[in-house]
Amino acid sequence: MFNFLANEKNLIKKYQPLLNHINIFENNVKNFTDDLLKEQIWKLKKKYLLNQKLSEDIVIESFALTREAAVRTIGLRHFDQQILGGLVLNDGKIAEMKTGEGKTLVATLPAVTNGLTQNGVHLVTVNDYLAKRDVEWMGKIYHFLGLSVGLVQSEMQFSERKKSYKKDITYITNSELGFDYLRDNMTFSVDQIVQRPFNYCIIDEIDSILIDEARTPLIISGEVPTNPNIYIQASQISKYLKKNEDFEVNEKTTNINLTEKGIRRIEKILGIINLFEAQQPWSVYVVNALRAEIFFLRNVQYIIKDNKIIIVDEFTGRMMPERRWNNGLHESVEAKENIPVKKSSEQLAAITYQNFFIMYPKLSGMTGTAKTAEAELEKIYNLEVLVIPTARPFQREDLTDRVYINEISKWKAVAKECALLYKIGRPVLVGTNSIEKSEVVSVLLNDYEVPHKVLNAKPENLKLESEIIAEAGCRNSITISTNMSGRGTDIILGGSLSFKMKKLSKILILTKKFPINNKNPFSFFILKKFIENIRENEKNLSLEKLELFLNLDSFSTKKNKKIKKFLTILFFYLKIYCKKSYIKERTYIQELGGLFVIGTERHESRRIDNQLRGRAGRQGDLGSSRFFISLEDKTFRLFGGKNIEKIINTFELQNDELPLESKLLGRSLDLAQEKVENYYYEMRKQIYDYDEVLNQQRRAFYFNRSYVLKTSIVRNWVICFGEFLLFEIVIYLKDPKSQKNIEALENDLINLKKLLGFSFNFDIQMIKKISHVLLFNFLREQFWLVCDLKEISCNSINQSFYTEFEKTCLLEAIDFCWSEHLQKMTDLRDSIGWTVYAQRDPLVEYKYEGYRIFIMTLKQIMNYLIVAILSTNVV
Ligand code: ADP
Repeated sequence: MFNFLANEKNLIKKYQPLLNHINIFENNVKNFTDDLLKEQIWKLKKKYLLNQKLSEDIVIESFALTREAAVRTIGLRHFDQQILGGLVLNDGKIAEMKTGEGKTLVATLPAVTNGLTQNGVHLVTVNDYLAKRDVEWMGKIYHFLGLSVGLVQSEMQFSERKKSYKKDITYITNSELGFDYLRDNMTFSVDQIVQRPFNYCIIDEIDSILIDEARTPLIISGEVPTNPNIYIQASQISKYLKKNEDFEVNEKTTNINLTEKGIRRIEKILGIINLFEAQQPWSVYVVNALRAEIFFLRNVQYIIKDNKIIIVDEFTGRMMPERRWNNGLHESVEAKENIPVKKSSEQLAAITYQNFFIMYPKLSGMTGTAKTAEAELEKIYNLEVLVIPTARPFQREDLTDRVYINEISKWKAVAKECALLYKIGRPVLVGTNSIEKSEVVSVLLNDYEVPHKVLNAKPENLKLESEIIAEAGCRNSITISTNMSGRGTDIILGGSLSFKMKKLSKILILTKKFPINNKNPFSFFILKKFIENIRENEKNLSLEKLELFLNLDSFSTKKNKKIKKFLTILFFYLKIYCKKSYIKERTYIQELGGLFVIGTERHESRRIDNQLRGRAGRQGDLGSSRFFISLEDKTFRLFGGKNIEKIINTFELQNDELPLESKLLGRSLDLAQEKVENYYYEMRKQIYDYDEVLNQQRRAFYFNRSYVLKTSIVRNWVICFGEFLLFEIVIYLKDPKSQKNIEALENDLINLKKLLGFSFNFDIQMIKKISHVLLFNFLREQFWLVCDLKEISCNSINQSFYTEFEKTCLLEAIDFCWSEHLQKMTDLRDSIGWTVYAQRDPLVEYKYEGYRIFIMTLKQIMNYLIVAILSTNVV
């Protein structure tokens, strides 16, 4: 029985009986033949189909069958703790499991159970590499049990995607899943839809996706021509402006406010009268240019690659080539960096992860760090967090922070610590918040002559990502990594043997250099020589040396089968020979204390600090973590308040190279971090509340769009919309209180006549005299006539052409107006902040105004559709 903390008692109370049943059933299953296992799964599928319910029996049996399939295919038997994790996931909750506890394997349990429904299970990972790795690794279990499994990768085309979504279980990244959803809602034919209705989703690193990425929506943009000079000019002007004189900066909210003086100055430079002119809103361009200059820094928020701005995700440290900042900000950063601004982007579709994932009827996830964000996950997503005990005792030591008075002292201390640890050979992972800072540490380590590797989003470093991580646990290895680079891949103490094996086989296959003697490819002599050579390098298996060795030998491509056999034998021997040395090395590193993780800044939540710490101490390994922080760090500068200031003054006379010590200090730093956590939580909550308004609208739009897409005839819609508009026109033309002058009304009437194609010579005066009903009936008949005529002339050529035409017009109308609607809602959100000054709740205002805009957009769709139909010459 496990050693549980008090708050995990509930977990055990709830799941222990199920776990016992699974263990008992496993004993039966062990004696089944492979075919019988498959048959059992088939029976479970049938059982589900009969009752449409994943009953307890089905869960117990499918878990036990999956466990047995894992043993038979990949040689891993789910630990009892992993079964508990699986049950939590199957219940639509979050399982918090420490790094290295085998979450990848845990997911197979609920995936198989829910795969039985054949309604699709989505297994979401944070990057393509992990999705592919997991499918290759875990796919064997699913195939063995007769379940189909698919993979979606970013470079995949439509047909491959569609095929993958049809499988029982699909591995995919969060962004591909979200973008496919948006794209599906923009298609013009049902065949182009790739996704099935959502059923069940398991998100790996769920906190990263639902919390860290919650602030950046997924946006599909279209490009519209723009005038690049505006952005260039605004960028040039921003360089003349002085902080606190022409503009004020709010670092916390990343807002910029122009001062009166600044406004006058810009107007003078531009030679304009009003900076806020709606037709040419220079204020927006200049503020964006200033934000680009002050808050958006190269190698922090973005990098430049192939003369393009590529956003770097601030939490994962990964490049996001498909993303753009909206509302002209991206263009402003391009102008700042002298990158040609050719087009500006307009939103065609957008959604936040928050609103995307709640569409799943059943959602669950796993992570090493969710407990500290439990309240948020429960409140917003209704997801309960349960902590699963570790399979082996947890041994990582989290050391108390070292606090320095300024940043310079902190960075020096980090470098010194690395140098010390390097001397004794202990592997170190230094986590930094940005590419820029990872490079600062690198420069300092060069000064100390400490060899090290840097892992950040820069393309030249990313190529080596998996290799760097695979070797980060080796003796003397110092790795500097932006926050979460390489996350998802374990750091194995002493290095990863399987990685080296994989790399070796790649080299063998790519270079096609095998130590095969043409006459006798399996010559024992050659194998022996090969292995002996490796044994010489046993202490540190150098791939370079292996490669050199391989060069000596001849090779023939015709011997593919033989090569395969040769490789199998070779790797078998290699594994045996090398394993010993790897185990020895691993023991040595354990004796040194395992991996040492250094954090260089407290993050905006303890959860992210814990993510970094979690790189050490996997599966009961030894390990340590320590944060080096300074009172000048952003978190404390912005959120520390008076307390920290006081402390700084107290310590001012002290030698700044020594870490500060004060009880008060620790408490104040924790308080500052708590403030940051709350601040960002409030921000996410606000985004969520605001997005909720748009979300309801989106659902209504997508629901109707999908209805239109699936029906073949939309004539009723056309007639209905047309009549509605004509009715409004009648009211408008006959409105006795109309402010419009006769001339303007006459113009409107001419336009209407053109559209409806009638030539009766009546004017506004006559219209005023006839009744509403008469006018409406006349216009309606005219409208019907035009539609019928169009249809008849079309049908003489092609029967279905006109029907198709109407449907396309309606879909185009919906898409065009939705895109405009998104922009209007963004503008509304940007401007609504001001209403707080008028003592009104901005969210209530936003809801109210949002509704009004929504109704306007609906009318706009009708307008767009009817004008398109009436004014297009179809034949
Ligand atoms: P996590 O995602 O929780 O950090 P992974 O899924 O990457 O962990 O697995 C970490 C390591 O643990 C892998 O090398 C895997 O082979 C191993 N592992 C997982 N489950 C088991 C098990 N039941 N028995 C033995 N090894 C396991």
